[in-house]
Amino acid sequence: MKQDGFPLPPGSVIGILGGGQLGRMLAMAAARLGFDVAVLDPEPGAPAQRLAAHAIVAPYDDPDALARLADVSNVVTFEFENVPARAIEILAANGAAVAPTGRALAIAQDRLEEKRFLNAAGAPTVAFAEVASPADIVVALEKLGRPLLIKSRRGGYDGKGQAWIEHPDEAAAVFAAVGARPSIAEAPADFRRELSVISARGRDGEIALYPLAENHHADGILRRTVAPAAASDAILAQAERIAATLLAALDYVGVIAVELFERDDGRLLVNEFAPRVHNSGHWTLDGCEVDQFEQHIRAVAGWPLGPTHAIARVEMTNLIGEEVNEWRRLSGEPETRVWLYGKAEARPGRKMGHVNRMTPLRS
Ligand code: AMP
Repeated sequence: MKQDGFPLPPGSVIGILGGGQLGRMLAMAAARLGFDVAVLDPEPGAPAQRLAAHAIVAPYDDPDALARLADVSNVVTFEFENVPARAIEILAANGAAVAPTGRALAIAQDRLEEKRFLNAAGAPTVAFAEVASPADIVVALEKLGRPLLIKSRRGGYDGKGQAWIEHPDEAAAVFAAVGARPSIAEAPADFRRELSVISARGRDGEIALYPLAENHHADGILRRTVAPAAASDAILAQAERIAATLLAALDYVGVIAVELFERDDGRLLVNEFAPRVHNSGHWTLDGCEVDQFEQHIRAVAGWPLGPTHAIARVEMTNLIGEEVNEWRRLSGEPETRVWLYGKAEARPGRKMGHVNRMTPLRS
């Protein structure tokens, strides 16, 4: 580990755990600032590894691979949430500076710990209860009302590992449906819109917030983001307070994404946070002078944060599975930028790329 302190000068190496599209776009941003990247991912030829000066193909908890990553990197970050906590410990034991901290990652990996942490920090969420058995679901239905959404505490994403329950008779079946694993029962959010706020904190504690994004999901997968989202001053103030609270409570360095529910009563609730760059921030690539990827690299490298105001309105649409085959038509559309992740196989449900369609801010 060559660690001479921050800010890291150009020529330094940013280590990234995870080699998917988020890592790829982090690598592109790092390159722009004169950095190299080292990428650890179990899959040979992962999207970010094809851009990496140091491509390490190994399981996330492989001690030798982590020691190598620590050795070549001046700072290590991650683009993937389900990196085992042990990987961060091994990196730290090898003298790596890791940002954000393993604590932020550990909290985000467990939906129950995450909601407890959010509430303790003063960020509002739906009412929830711990579920370790079907009997706990029955108790939760009595306490929180019905219906409830049962989610596995760990591992589920894009709506996987989740099931609604209406009636106590279904408790055993629903517990089995989420994998008969430690779970959480959540009251319905009764939201009118799903929003997210991407923000960043620098090594000196400086904070920067991007405009709110409005997100539309289908089958549990993000399809479309529109940003900046139209929102009242009261909503903006709540989002700002929530983001600032979390960044401070986690003593955070880097970009964080907070997924929010906007309710009819004008209250924002936090669904979850991701301690990394996020799909709902891809609009910033074409809507801001400094996008979320460059912002993250700046933060972890100890550079000043960049401007976050919008310079265009952007509608971001994910290209999922075979939709990527439309690249030729899409790349000819006016005011549209196509971002492709270089994944060889267009499997159903797989995020293959996205398009950003820009319109002037005041139209
Ligand atoms: P998650 O895996 O927690 O991000 O949830 C995936 C999606 O499920 C969210 O984007 C919402 O559309 C929906 N969802 C999650 N939690 C709740 C809830 N408590 N009430 C209603 N819908 C929810």
